[in-house]
Amino acid sequence: MSIRVLPDELVDQIAAGEVIERPASVAKELIENALDAGATRIEVDVERGGVSLVRVRDDGCGIAAAELALALARHATSKIASLADLEAATTLGFRGEALPSIGSVSRLRIASRAAAAERGAEVAVEGGAATAVGPAAHPKGTTVEVRDLFFNVPARRKFVRSDATELGHVTRLVERLALSRFDVTFRLTSGARVLLDAPAVADAAAEPGRLAHVLGEDFPQAVLSVRQAAGPALLSGWAGLPTSSRAQPDRQFWFVNGRSVRDRLLMNAARLAYRDVLYHGRHPVYVLYLTLDPKLVDVNAHPAKLEVRFRDSRQVHDFVFRALERALAETRPQSPGTLTPSAEPREPMTSWPAPSALPLYALHLYESTREPWGIAEALEADSPAAAAALAAECRASSESSSAAALTTDGEEHPLGSALGQLHGVYILSQSRAGLVLVDMHAAHERVLYERLKSERASGSEASQQLLEPLVLSLKPHELAALLEERAQWEAAGFELEALSDTQLAVRRAPAYLKVAEIPAVVGSLVRDLAEDSGTHHLEKSAERFLATLACRTAIHAHRRLTLAEMNALLRQMEATERVNQCNHGRPTWTRLTLQQLDRLFLRGR
Ligand code: ADP
Ligand code: MG
Repeated sequence: MSIRVLPDELVDQIAAGEVIERPASVAKELIENALDAGATRIEVDVERGGVSLVRVRDDGCGIAAAELALALARHATSKIASLADLEAATTLGFRGEALPSIGSVSRLRIASRAAAAERGAEVAVEGGAATAVGPAAHPKGTTVEVRDLFFNVPARRKFVRSDATELGHVTRLVERLALSRFDVTFRLTSGARVLLDAPAVADAAAEPGRLAHVLGEDFPQAVLSVRQAAGPALLSGWAGLPTSSRAQPDRQFWFVNGRSVRDRLLMNAARLAYRDVLYHGRHPVYVLYLTLDPKLVDVNAHPAKLEVRFRDSRQVHDFVFRALERALAETRPQSPGTLTPSAEPREPMTSWPAPSALPLYALHLYESTREPWGIAEALEADSPAAAAALAAECRASSESSSAAALTTDGEEHPLGSALGQLHGVYILSQSRAGLVLVDMHAAHERVLYERLKSERASGSEASQQLLEPLVLSLKPHELAALLEERAQWEAAGFELEALSDTQLAVRRAPAYLKVAEIPAVVGSLVRDLAEDSGTHHLEKSAERFLATLACRTAIHAHRRLTLAEMNALLRQMEATERVNQCNHGRPTWTRLTLQQLDRLFLRGR
């Protein structure tokens, strides 16, 4: 075949192949055009999952009759005029490809009236062939109707799935766009069914309502609000509590400068930020907005603009990771009503992190507290005197039982004051709001783990020299595995020596371990570590080691605690980051409010 220039219609169909994959892609292009036109209300109607009809109606700026034909021409756009505009583009569209592409593979009709015009106008295209522009009655704004998608491209049609599947794609797409602009009303209908009705909201107080409209009533209850700024970047939105994680990553929404993206770098940064608080194989939910100077991000990296390129991807990754990790670290007990921290901006992060200061896994954003071991010391202490001393201290600070529920400035402790133990597993505690239930092992495990991490970060693990080395017998493969990880053990305060291929001498151990407990802790630690990380979400072995150590040294079920010890644990929990989940991502405490109890007993009706 000789070389020839392709006819325009074919060029449009080829371009359509890139951006128009299915009805949802049509809906995306049309809704983005409406948003770019400044619409405040966007109505989307579909029939047969969008295969027979996608209609988008907006109240935006409209298209002048004289420009209607041009809107359908390839590479015709009103949004950029130069390379400089492209580099700073803030509109969702700018390639001038969508309308001609769609027009080449469907029956397209546009009716519009520009704000200044007295009358509306319309134009139609069928498989790429346009009719003349004629008058039409239309309010200010634009209606674009796309019928019979791919009617002239049978090969494409084959890839379109069932109506229900396509409707699902359209619905999720409209939901995503509705999350990108809370100031715009979105309504989606399929025939007579209303699938989404999300009125615009004007202020931050109404945002949870909008989230509930789009993602369901439960969503706003199970999220923390996030707002962190650094240098030219702002991360805001909502991060799901670890307890609201899902089996699929189907509720993860990223927006960069208002554009919905599925970006690997951002998803990875979020995954890392959650790794310390989630079960292996669980996926967090979030709706997050990254706002950056448009010059720092290239949105023209992908025809459908789903991926973006950051000028400094490492910095973006680390900023997002740190900001989210910091927000999640604040999952501590709060009084009811403030369970979800307010949308108040938190203190800005002091600086855009410098690349050199970024050991990804070892970021400790908070000063570690340097008080003694407290609960762990008392619980694990060899001498009854130490336990008695702590108990006395607790009594002194809480002479009257109501004082135990108050902090030094007279505020109520969020976790209240302990009443007793239930079946050796749970602590029951009374707070002003009602009853608090704590899983004592899970909670103590997190308290210890956070403590171990900050001690590790500040290089201040306290260890004890044993008067006589403890000699333990291990299986040869266990001992070999232990010696491979020897550096971890030493960093945690152990001093170990292999006497033979089955005999291990322990000369030093962390100070908080009772001597009598050391053989059991070392033995179970060796076995847990050999079983490997299957149960932990933690990738880095240092963290896995500390988490396992915390799990093995935390108080176990059926250990009797005194009230003073229970209160000491509650106070430690309140002071510990990420304490709402244990190291495996399970919740550590819950609350039954008086209202909930009253409801149970039908009181006050
Ligand atoms: P792009 O969005 O990349 O500019 P399109 O092919 O999607 O390209 O649209 C071409 C032009 O048509 C736009 O630049 C805009 O001027 C006009 N247009 C399309 N849809 C609308 C709309 N809903 N309201 C106002 N103008 C529109
Ligand atoms: Mg467009």
